[in-house]
Amino acid sequence: MPHVAGRHFLQIPGPTNVPDRVLRAIDHPTMDHRGPEFGVLGLEILSNLRRVFQTEGPVVIYPASGTGAWEAALTNTLSPGDRVLMCRTGWFATLWKEMAERLSLDPVFIDTDWRRGADVTALASALTADGAHRIKAVCVVHNETSTGCVSQIADVRAAMDAAKHPALLLVDTISSLASIDYRHDAWGVDVTVAGSQKGLMLPPGLSFNAISARALKAVETAKLPRSYWDWRPMLEANQTGYFPYTPGTNLLYGLNEAVKMLLDEGLENVFARHDRHAEATRRAVRTWGLEVQCADPLHYSSSLTAVRLPEGHSADGLRATILRKFNMSLGNGLGILKDRVFRIGHLGDFGDLQLIGTLGGVEMGLRVAGVPHKPGGVQAAVDYLAGNA
Ligand SMILES: *Cc1c(COP(=O)(O)O)cnc(C)c1O
Repeated sequence: MPHVAGRHFLQIPGPTNVPDRVLRAIDHPTMDHRGPEFGVLGLEILSNLRRVFQTEGPVVIYPASGTGAWEAALTNTLSPGDRVLMCRTGWFATLWKEMAERLSLDPVFIDTDWRRGADVTALASALTADGAHRIKAVCVVHNETSTGCVSQIADVRAAMDAAKHPALLLVDTISSLASIDYRHDAWGVDVTVAGSQKGLMLPPGLSFNAISARALKAVETAKLPRSYWDWRPMLEANQTGYFPYTPGTNLLYGLNEAVKMLLDEGLENVFARHDRHAEATRRAVRTWGLEVQCADPLHYSSSLTAVRLPEGHSADGLRATILRKFNMSLGNGLGILKDRVFRIGHLGDFGDLQLIGTLGGVEMGLRVAGVPHKPGGVQAAVDYLAGNA
């Protein structure tokens, strides 16, 4: 490939841009993961990380992609044949459900039209109807990355409490943690699943489970086979800052730095920054005369915006034009949204000028690719950002 001048814009909704501070932290010699220095690092990370999940309980770290942490959440808490209630909010919820089937669980899927978050009313009826408590877990994707729709986890918890249902609550926050407000303890979540390469601003390769006291109890009776994912040897080794097998040492250097950056900025400020960029993006999209995939303003995602193309126009064609002409990667449509939407990632290490550059690339791409639209989207975002500086 010939050299392309200027910085590539990686505006997919994960992996996200890795800040220079994190890259430099990773760029150190790998240390002995059984040596004395490592335990100090491990304890520091494991302690700071809890604040990002807003929990007092343990968080475990796997050298794995987010999919691994999905499997850990299910296998540590459930037994073969257990019924789990899930919500088809989009592509990632569908993959998690397929995993549950392969693990010999019995998932019941509540549908959506992929244009909003989980249907809490339908979840509530399913829980109320389950007087025998056959449902052992409720699994929800907090931010559905394929659609840009957020599910209201506090409402899901409230529905479970109202039904007096003892099921565990398992939540995927892979594309929301450290971008959208998320409270493991306050919302009564039993297992939170997360990954390194989205809001946490790291390369791919680490994933996480935050674990409630009830979930810790469940692991003692849950009968799904597990070995690599078993929380117990992990938690045992973590007490002194170590791991039961070789950790992702250099990624942990990066994680330590990324968590410090998030806590320095302050989680509230991090969330407000993402909210502001998402609102500016939606204003640009509306000005172009295009439609946001998320149809319910209460469910708008602050980490990404999925944009629908007019009938007869190819979202993948537009993305290819933008990559070729302007050196920017945007997210593709997944599942039933293939070629119908493109996704703008505005999460992670991201500032106002990067957003304006991103929206500029989209607006130029719409013009070059001949997608019908009105100009002025970038201006609408400029007006909003400058008016709310
Ligand atoms: C990215 C993502 C996943 C998949 O994570 P991998 O790291 O690719 O295994 C799962 N769920 C959501 C919501 C995601 O955004």
